[in-house]
Amino acid sequence: MTAGGELLSRWQSLRQELEADHVMLLATSKYSSDEAVATLVHAGQRDFAESRPQALRDRARMFPHCRWHMIGPLQKNKAKYVARHASMWHSVDIIEVAEAVASQLDNRELPILLQVNISGEKQKHGVSPHDVGKSLHALRQLSGLKVSGLMGMAAKVGDPTPAFQTLRQLRDQYHEGDLNTLSMGMSHDYLAAIREGATIVRLGTALFGRDYSDSMPAK
Ligand SMILES: *Cc1c(COP(=O)(O)O)cnc(C)c1O
Repeated sequence: MTAGGELLSRWQSLRQELEADHVMLLATSKYSSDEAVATLVHAGQRDFAESRPQALRDRARMFPHCRWHMIGPLQKNKAKYVARHASMWHSVDIIEVAEAVASQLDNRELPILLQVNISGEKQKHGVSPHDVGKSLHALRQLSGLKVSGLMGMAAKVGDPTPAFQTLRQLRDQYHEGDLNTLSMGMSHDYLAAIREGATIVRLGTALFGRDYSDSMPAK
């Protein structure tokens, strides 16, 4: 099978698997080629994620009929890329940056997820579970941003389930009718995330292949 064919067969089987649980497959294309993205777009995939703001802008311009999700850290001076091009922003964890994005939205509403540090690792992004209530309160005041749920990442090693349970419990605790989305689960732990109620899984390697460049169709 060609690399493009292998990519498509992984996509089809992941989609079947996730559709049965009503979970959205977010194709995390940050390390993959334009050709691999085009292959999936052609097959019908519409939701993609990038972790760098300029890459999000470039791909949103290249594939304007798709929904581009921002999943990486953002600095205030790059807020305009997310304000203009993102369909959903998963990695909100600093109120000042959220304000900057909100102020540059051009007459549209942007769904956002509060990123919570559920792994307990200090170097990880996201607000501490203790600050979730306070952060949601602040974000709910910002017009243009629509608080829609929570996002989190489990630690790379060890049992991911307790971290996902924490995110789900926080969602239930702070739900004001608006926290319907739980973005959790990556290639190595998405099955555990789905068991704990994920509504979006962000898959890079499991979809595009281990060496992402492998997924490029032969030229
Ligand atoms: C890269 C990335 C993913 C996908 O990682 P894989 O392990 O390749 O599936 C998911 N979420 C975030 C925030 C990422 O940066």
